[in-house]
Amino acid sequence: MCGIVGYLGKRNAYPVLIKGLKRLEYRGYDSAGVALLTENGDLRVYKTKGKVSDLESFASDKDTTGCVGIAHTRWATHGEPNSTNAHPHISYTGNLAIIHNGIIENYAVLKKQLQEKGIEFKSNTDTEVLVQLIEYVRTRKNFDLLTSVQVALRAVIGAYAIAILDKDDPDQIIAARKSSPLVVGIGEEEFFLGSDASPIIEYTDKVIYLDDKDIAVIRRNKEVEVVDFHNAKMNHDITKVELNLAQIEKGGFPHFMLKEIFEQPDCLRDCMRGRVNVDANNVVLSAIIDNKERLMNARRFIIIACGTSWHAGLIGKQLIENYCQIPVEVEYASEFRYSNPVINEKDVVIAISQSGETADTLAAIELAKKRGAFIYGICNAIGSSIPRATHTGSYIHVGPEIGVASTKAFTGQVTVLTMLALALAKERNTISNEEYLSLIAELDAIPNKMVELLEQGEKIKEISRIFTYARNFLYLGRGYNYPVALEGALKLKEISYIHAEGYPAAEMKHGPIALIDEEMPVVVIATKNVLYEKVLSNIQEIKARHARVIAIVSKDDVTVKNMADAYIELPHTMECLEPLLATIPLQMLAYYIAVCKGKDVDQPRNLAKSVTVE
Ligand code: GLU
Repeated sequence: MCGIVGYLGKRNAYPVLIKGLKRLEYRGYDSAGVALLTENGDLRVYKTKGKVSDLESFASDKDTTGCVGIAHTRWATHGEPNSTNAHPHISYTGNLAIIHNGIIENYAVLKKQLQEKGIEFKSNTDTEVLVQLIEYVRTRKNFDLLTSVQVALRAVIGAYAIAILDKDDPDQIIAARKSSPLVVGIGEEEFFLGSDASPIIEYTDKVIYLDDKDIAVIRRNKEVEVVDFHNAKMNHDITKVELNLAQIEKGGFPHFMLKEIFEQPDCLRDCMRGRVNVDANNVVLSAIIDNKERLMNARRFIIIACGTSWHAGLIGKQLIENYCQIPVEVEYASEFRYSNPVINEKDVVIAISQSGETADTLAAIELAKKRGAFIYGICNAIGSSIPRATHTGSYIHVGPEIGVASTKAFTGQVTVLTMLALALAKERNTISNEEYLSLIAELDAIPNKMVELLEQGEKIKEISRIFTYARNFLYLGRGYNYPVALEGALKLKEISYIHAEGYPAAEMKHGPIALIDEEMPVVVIATKNVLYEKVLSNIQEIKARHARVIAIVSKDDVTVKNMADAYIELPHTMECLEPLLATIPLQMLAYYIAVCKGKDVDQPRNLAKSVTVE
């Protein structure tokens, strides 16, 4: 998600910055920009919606001289992706330029305060608040830039990696980070900045990885100085980067899909930031606050989606029905749009789509709207068509998903649906306080549990190798884990081209059991929840027919571990949150099997990332 590049040295900065932005393109973005301190002392900013190549065309006839500059690819979170909202942003004096990755959570309060002081804003971004605040502190208090940055950052809540240029001080870049990565590269009389090392390693292998709350002062002919918000000196070793250019284009991962699988803990933290508040003991979704009456009076919910999003919808149905006591239907958008649905103004339609451009879902929304339903969108791509077509909604905020087989968008969608169910249940008084509080705490703990789970990667890789031979797979789960079985089977189909079916475990004996023999591996989600004993019987039935079982088990389980041919342990969590964990080993299983079979994981045949046709 979004990228930062900076340069200060002897070379012409512009080509270094453009090349650096290109190296960060894998992260996904919607607009790009650059700020340069030119040879004649100007601060020049060029920015545009679209690709880095669009920025190049835009700047082709402009002054791109100068040996100091910063550049950015933006993945919009606040404000549409357009050239005004693209970074860099300039302070009201015209002297400071900033680029920023992340989200300033308290931007609204700060913006209001600054506007009351007469400062005018040009963009709709949260980022602009930062540069205006820093400039305000600097001019009001007559502080130097470093002190002004320190004072400003002390007032800021949120996540950021930033870099700042000052027109009046062309020998300096100030950079800082909190919860967003930033690397300083150290060359011979030159310095680089990058969201990761990829824009840097072409020039130097010496880097400093900044830590949270570090501020780096990069000055010509001086050593990089790192201080904290209170000016205490932070000691950092210079690290040698071991990566080569080829490796890092996907952030060090061989495929975008694997990178996205591993990003999930951070993605869910981003998704829950400011929404799941452990300290305040609440779950806040602005869409629910703003449309309380409409949502409270809903007679039923209808979830419309396609593919992976439809699976997330099936989990959403259970969450909303269990906690909010409102009936929920889940429909394929492609079927819904051509049906004659009985739907009216008392219904709320939840439309789920990663890209926000899914043609069938858009058409289904139009139909439901025409019949008076209230539409709530759950999307990833900011400013895409579905968020614009809906009455309200919540973004999943997991960053651009590039791998065609969806991974982090699925867990992001399930997280938003969980937050929606909890926030609404609280309003409706259909959840006990005790359960509400334990769910908040547990939801907050999920990212760390995902990290624990991802550590089993090597083991899952081994299991995958064993099962690559299979031509068919069966995936079984019950309750909340039934949609996980469907999603696991879909992942395998999509990228390994192995035929796979997902079923509710108890349905096995109503047909699919006829297929089971030693040639057909069965993946069973058999965690210790209310249906555990029932699933145990299913495993017995499978084993009796000589099939090999790969079980997803609770950590402390002994019984299933003894019965299964291979198992993957899941950290404990509450039953309704298990899909967030149980999905991960299934994504990895599909990934490693596809890799073993030599398939093109990121661009599987016949599939597109954003399905904008019917
Ligand atoms: N929140 C900022 C914006 O919307 C920065 C987004 C990014 O990380 O690219 O402009």
